[in-house]
Amino acid sequence: LREEEAISPDGLSVAQMRELRDKAQNFTFQTEVNRMMKLIINSLYRNKEIFLRELISNASDALDKIRLLSLTDRNVLDANPDLSIRIKADPERRLLHIIDSGVGMTRADLVNNLGTIAKSGTADFLSKMQDTEKSDNQEMNDMIGQFGVGFYSAFLVADKVTVVSKHNDDAQQVWESDANSFSVAEDPRGPTLKRGTHITLHLKEEAADYLQSDTIRSLVKKYSQFINFPIHLWASST
Ligand code: ADP
Ligand code: MG
Repeated sequence: LREEEAISPDGLSVAQMRELRDKAQNFTFQTEVNRMMKLIINSLYRNKEIFLRELISNASDALDKIRLLSLTDRNVLDANPDLSIRIKADPERRLLHIIDSGVGMTRADLVNNLGTIAKSGTADFLSKMQDTEKSDNQEMNDMIGQFGVGFYSAFLVADKVTVVSKHNDDAQQVWESDANSFSVAEDPRGPTLKRGTHITLHLKEEAADYLQSDTIRSLVKKYSQFINFPIHLWASST
């Protein structure tokens, strides 16, 4: 069943896959997002590894959010008291999974947060960066490296990204993009996550090194050693 292999959320039957496809609503990225993605691709091709720092930082932010909410509403952790990050590779399918039990995203969150650039400073940053774009100097690389370049850096190493998310206030949703446009649909499998976000990177052929546990471990050490939540890596034997 080649069709089944092509779809990213695991364990979808052919009928569920069809359902997902039929229900999916298609969106175009905001113009600023397209500019940001181009900028990231053009200026960070020597620094692709920072994608992991960005995705772990987002996972950590999402965990901070649910923990903060739990201080005033204990019930928000009922679905899952665990607060952690998991990273797992699937070499056969060339997939890298980053899973957190953070606050998750509703359908509206997915459309807004992963389809637009919400941060006010980013527009300024973009125009400043595009002025220096032609010179392509080290200074610019340093600048973009220090600035949180965010979620879209996933496309440095992936040609397709799938985000499955479960927020306490909504049914589980599937967001998917090849960097040109994106789609969102309710997950036909129902909730496979108790709460949080599961990001699947469909790695580019040349990014296969990120399937190695040693590579991932050293990147976590290099960029994410001060994250306040446990980061579980899959065993190196698998
Ligand atoms: P930033 O983290 O600086 O806000 P990003 O591009 O990294 O910018 O992420 C955009 C937004 O997408 C985040 O602000 C957040 O609302 C949402 N988001 C990304 N990843 C996650 C995640 N793992 N869990 C929940 N929300 C997320
Ligand atoms: Mg971020």
